[in-house]
Amino acid sequence: MVRPWSEDLEDHRQPLKSVPIWVKFHDVPKQLWTKKGLSLIASRLGKPHCWDDATQRKTRLDFGKVCIEVKVYAQYPTSLKFKLKVGKIAIVKVEYTWKPPSCTFCDRFGYSLAKCPNKPATTWRPVTTQRETATATDPTTALVTRAVAASETSTVS
Ligand SMILES: [Zn+2]
Repeated sequence: MVRPWSEDLEDHRQPLKSVPIWVKFHDVPKQLWTKKGLSLIASRLGKPHCWDDATQRKTRLDFGKVCIEVKVYAQYPTSLKFKLKVGKIAIVKVEYTWKPPSCTFCDRFGYSLAKCPNKPATTWRPVTTQRETATATDPTTALVTRAVAASETSTVS
């Protein structure tokens, strides 16, 4: 049913659709400091993978550290609210050790939307013209090709 994650990472033909990241949860209420509770918190952000040793053995109770698989469209909330049985609201603070850059235009990880090479330029020109320009002469590719050609020429002469 679920493929091991290493298989996904090794498959370079498909762009990554989810990436595992370490997330720290602060102010976790005692009631939620269980395998089930931490999974519940983590599943708000993505697919929980595992937690670090100290979290599992409860040797460090100031924060819980969980590895979560996040998607391209993941939001990164800094706090999460949980309703406890007694009617109390618990607020868990979330700290991200790393936020993987992802492009929602291309639906993939690897770079941010701001650095997207496929995103149409924001100019006054009609959409159709923008698309033709982007595919015909990609300025990035053109520059790289020219740089390579120049260095080759200088080596020969
Ligand atoms: Zn993109």
